[in-house]
Amino acid sequence: MSFRKDILMTDQQTPQTFPPNESFVENARYDASLLERGKDHEAYWAETAREVLTWDTDFTQTLDWSDAPFAQWFVGGKLNAAYNALDRHVEAGRGDRVAIYFEGEPGDSRTYTYADLTREVKKAANAFASLGVRQGDRVAVYLPMIPEAVITMLACARLGAAHSVVFGGFSPDALRQRIDDAEAKLVVTADGSYRRGQPTRLKPAVDEALAKGTHTVQNVVVVKRNGEDVPFNAETDLWWHDVVDTASEEHTAEAFDAENPLFILYTSGTTGKPKGILHTTGGYLVQGAQTFRHTFDLKEETDVFWCTADVGWVTGHSYVTYAPLVNGATQVMYEGTPDTPHKGRWWEIVQKHRVSILYTAPTAIRTFMKWGEEIPAQYDLSSLRLLGSVGESINPEAWLWYHRVIGGGRCPIVDTWWQTETGAQMLTPLPGVHALKPGSAQQPVPGVDIDVVDEMGDPLPNGQAGFLVIRRPWPSMLRGIWGDPERFKKTYWSRFENMYFAGDGAKRDEDGDIWLLGRVDDVMNVSGHRLSSTEIESALVGHPYVAEAAVIGAADETTGEAVVAFVMLQDEGEQALAGGEDVEATLRAHVGKEIGPIAKPRNVLVTPELPKTRSGKIMRRLLKDVAEGREIGDTMTLADPTVMQQIAADMRAGRGGKA
Ligand code: ATP
Ligand code: MG
Repeated sequence: MSFRKDILMTDQQTPQTFPPNESFVENARYDASLLERGKDHEAYWAETAREVLTWDTDFTQTLDWSDAPFAQWFVGGKLNAAYNALDRHVEAGRGDRVAIYFEGEPGDSRTYTYADLTREVKKAANAFASLGVRQGDRVAVYLPMIPEAVITMLACARLGAAHSVVFGGFSPDALRQRIDDAEAKLVVTADGSYRRGQPTRLKPAVDEALAKGTHTVQNVVVVKRNGEDVPFNAETDLWWHDVVDTASEEHTAEAFDAENPLFILYTSGTTGKPKGILHTTGGYLVQGAQTFRHTFDLKEETDVFWCTADVGWVTGHSYVTYAPLVNGATQVMYEGTPDTPHKGRWWEIVQKHRVSILYTAPTAIRTFMKWGEEIPAQYDLSSLRLLGSVGESINPEAWLWYHRVIGGGRCPIVDTWWQTETGAQMLTPLPGVHALKPGSAQQPVPGVDIDVVDEMGDPLPNGQAGFLVIRRPWPSMLRGIWGDPERFKKTYWSRFENMYFAGDGAKRDEDGDIWLLGRVDDVMNVSGHRLSSTEIESALVGHPYVAEAAVIGAADETTGEAVVAFVMLQDEGEQALAGGEDVEATLRAHVGKEIGPIAKPRNVLVTPELPKTRSGKIMRRLLKDVAEGREIGDTMTLADPTVMQQIAADMRAGRGGKA
């Protein structure tokens, strides 16, 4: 793949940079020498592993790569993940520190100190053990964003059983597939939750999932969250308050092998059928803990961290359940949506708990931009000192808004690139070291070796776009796709020799900073020119009419592929449209001016919503299906499947401009 440089992020868009913030330079828990130490790859990770974790038995070999691409990290080491997240903080006299401030959607709140959380996890571990859960078993977790989700995950880890968390918004079919794939012994769920002010029901979905055919599940433990009347099977179902609340508070954590499976988690399904990614214990915890400290410049005694991701996604695994707790940090956990009961809910939570580090996704920022800056302006956000972004590229427009409106112009933003497969952050600026560039994930974290290569796997010079690859194994790397070693090799290790293929397009700018250009699958070829979906979307969102945009390449008889854009308008755009303006022509011209005539969309379809996964990512492959007149593919992980029907109908009705 060779993107043409002249149509990609060219000089007219030379980005504004923000030098490292003074207070971060002075007080950072690391300095630039960290980058040097990181170059001594294995030595750096060995040292880090002993620094950030408490090992029951020290490891004898840092990395065993002899059976590549199947890695083993910290060979011979033994540890317990839950002990590292909990008990050791209590033993060190920090039991009174708050671990979790929980905010329920209806307004209920709970606070767990490290001592409280340790006790609850011990009880849950005893309860699960009494139901037969042992090392090597799998437990399916189908819970809302409530503390019991974290408690369940850590209780499994404590017993050496792997959890498989299934996002609470998924259908019974999606749940059943994941239960079967992992051969789960136990399911932990809740009667229901709250969403947009309404009680929802979860337990019936578990019943429906288990109703068809034989399965491996022996028991279902049910948390009473909202009191919905749900069916109960006396033979297999147990209330959490009956089995966990009554269990013993004494439980000694057993140490397990560093490579003991910690969890299975499915990817978002943005590019195809979700993959069941396997992570193990030692390496995963090491890199999660280390990146958490550095990227967020953690001051564990004073910071209040809030990651808004659901535990059903990898961000919720790594940066809600594990890394903050392993570091002894204090965090906020919120159950509901940002607009319930009002559109200032998040900012009210930041104000209430004096949140100092906020980690969220670009899609949320763009939603807040659309709602207007007068909403966050009503709250005291002065406690914030650092902001993070994850999940997709953050377009410069959204970055600048986040920086100015939420961060008051004083908070650095760390744009973190990583994947379910990488387990922890891989690319990000460090707030005390790097000058920040809106829209770029910038640099590999210390100890990680990332490159941009051409289709032959040869490194590309700065300024040229190609494939993002990881050259050396990293501690939190996936250990495989559950039950499918061939798919693991084929998906990640067959495109290039001895390199991990991430599936994303990228390029380095003149300073060597990395810019993500979207999925390789989303790069289009228009009349022989390679165009990046991310850049065209970014140009569209830069126009005052547009709130969000999704761009795909659709087969075209004359140009090979044609650019097709789907846009959601802001008020200003809606008004222009209502006033009779040819908004599509305006936006086509805008892209032509920003990037070049070749990038002008053939069609611009105005749509009230874009198809997104439950984790907030745009499903471009479905838009491509529609644009090419195909049957719409798998929509299992879509937040609202009706969105696609609407878009397909609009497309058929010929709305969306002409060639
Ligand atoms: P699937 O692999 O099933 O298609 P997915 O790739 O969406 O799903 P995730 O692991 O949730 O599953 O997402 C990882 C992807 O998200 C990355 O490969 C990248 O495309 C995108 N991404 C994450 N963070 C960033 C970021 N900071 N900048 C750009 N892209 C990002
Ligand atoms: Mg992926």
